[in-house]
Amino acid sequence: APDAELREIRKVYDNGARGVEQVDFTVAKGEFFALLGPSGCGKSTTLRILAGLEEPTSGEVYIRGEAMRGRPSHRRPTNMVFQKLALFPHLTVADNIAFGPRLRRRPAKEVSARVAEMIELVGLSGYGDRHPAQLSGGQQQRVAIARALANEPAVLLLDEPLGALDLKLRVQMQQALKRIQHDSGTTFVYVTHDQVEALTMADRMAVMNEGRIEQLGPPAALYRRP
Ligand code: ADP
Ligand code: ADP
Repeated sequence: APDAELREIRKVYDNGARGVEQVDFTVAKGEFFALLGPSGCGKSTTLRILAGLEEPTSGEVYIRGEAMRGRPSHRRPTNMVFQKLALFPHLTVADNIAFGPRLRRRPAKEVSARVAEMIELVGLSGYGDRHPAQLSGGQQQRVAIARALANEPAVLLLDEPLGALDLKLRVQMQQALKRIQHDSGTTFVYVTHDQVEALTMADRMAVMNEGRIEQLGPPAALYRRP
């Protein structure tokens, strides 16, 4: 089974607003999948449905072949990183990353090994004892990603994670994320309204408009046309 599959997803919010009209796609294991489109086209709605933060009005989401619907929140197989970071300011980098595994009562030895591995993966060796306020925006973002990855999600969901960063840092972080994808084998679903970002980072991408997918495929295939 693919790591993620959305079948005929439609979302109408309680106030009648149309979140998405019809969304279908699958994401293979280890793939970097980007959702691109203008503000209001339904990218965040799609991502929140993948995260289990919203229930679709109709349609089904499967993660590694298992339906999402009805799963309790602590059993959600996906993890989301938001643009507005939610690091715990009173905890060190290491304790921020250890938070999820500890919550799931992993043995202490396993937690510290996992934390060390994640810190290394995101290039923050030596920063484990710092607090978030002592880090740059890009470093904080990498902690947020490490914290999400420490939960070993089947799919890592990122909603405009680099939107608040300046250009230089954004390019650095784009490269860091691709490296993390390769080194960890993690499957990514990445929301952006930045076409260049989607084109440079995605293995495959969906171009959304007004709640629907208008184009789907690898960047080169989508942008070869005249
Ligand atoms: P995008 O992420 O592409 O900007 P969204 O998924 O946030 O798009 O929004 C898609 C549509 O759904 C928009 O018309 C938006 O106003 C609406 N919408 C999003 N979230 C909610 C919500 N919680 N309640 C009502 N309408 C919403
Ligand atoms: P985006 O960058 O995805 O367009 P927004 O600023 O539109 O984000 O939305 C921020 C938050 O407000 C989201 O949690 C979304 O669900 C909610 N939201 C967006 N549109 C509406 C709406 N029309 N009614 C209620 N909530 C909304």
